[in-house]
Amino acid sequence: AKQLEPVRLEAEARVKELAGVTSVSAVMTAHSTAAAPPDLKPAGRPQPSGPEKIPGVDRIIAIASGKGGVGKSTVSANLACALAAQGRRVGLLDADVFGPSQPRMMGVSGRPGSADGKRIVPKHNHGVSMMSMGLMTNEGQAVVWRGPMLMSALQQMLMQVEWGALDVLIVDLPPGTGDVQLTLAQKARLDGAIIVSTPQDVALLDARKGIDMFNKVNIPIIGMIENMSTHICSNCGHEEHLFGHGGVAKEAAALDVPLLAEIPLHLDIRVASDSGAPIVVTKPDSASAGSFEKIAKTLIDSGFA
Ligand code: ADP
Repeated sequence: AKQLEPVRLEAEARVKELAGVTSVSAVMTAHSTAAAPPDLKPAGRPQPSGPEKIPGVDRIIAIASGKGGVGKSTVSANLACALAAQGRRVGLLDADVFGPSQPRMMGVSGRPGSADGKRIVPKHNHGVSMMSMGLMTNEGQAVVWRGPMLMSALQQMLMQVEWGALDVLIVDLPPGTGDVQLTLAQKARLDGAIIVSTPQDVALLDARKGIDMFNKVNIPIIGMIENMSTHICSNCGHEEHLFGHGGVAKEAAALDVPLLAEIPLHLDIRVASDSGAPIVVTKPDSASAGSFEKIAKTLIDSGFA
């Protein structure tokens, strides 16, 4: 504080010169670093230099889940397409580096080009600009990422893709709460996160960890989505709660975060995804598509997209 005394004095002097100021007293305070959880900074890894805005991208929403297979990628693809259908300029970044499924779900293949050898031109389909690590590697080939390589690949995907002007970038995160999620949360200025979970207790527990992580890095939770909420038979329309029902609603209420939607488990959703066109594209008027379209509208209405 002593070293900064001249600064304090000068601040007082300069303010005093302003018209209308009769007396000034400057007081110094210090930011507490105690709030940053120490476990978020693994030793030996490149330290993120604080959140950055991606050029041209207005907002970034992360789609997260505590564990894999709960439908996070399905939600990401459908939300991206639904937002595009509702007039937003949308990008979709498949950051699920360990199991990138967006090329298949969005019906995109082939290596992305680059005009200058530096910036990557994203692929486009269903009104959405899309980039995935799955496009940079050969399909069916396992990729073993080492920490630093993974981080720089991710950073490239974030900062070196020519997204153009976007209203919103949807980021399909890998499941869990590891380094990738943290790097993204710290590197890119995320506006909010959506947590996808099935109603089962085990998935819920993992979802809670996810929420905890975002809280720690001060990223607002936009809400939770219960996926595979109710099974609807494609033959007779009979409804059955395969994984239980309402578990996410209860959890959301307990954690005081909004429940954005309960999405049914329906064959059409899976078939559409596997065909390379999400259900909001193939059957936009179906009830299943409707639940995604509703979330998109909520996001737009609340200023997140
Ligand atoms: P994650 O990204 O969480 O690993 P995916 O989105 O890849 O999960 O979904 C896993 C599988 O379940 C995929 O085959 C997908 O098509 C299917 N699936 C996801 N949600 C639904 C749903 N609501 N109805 C039917 N199938 C679904």
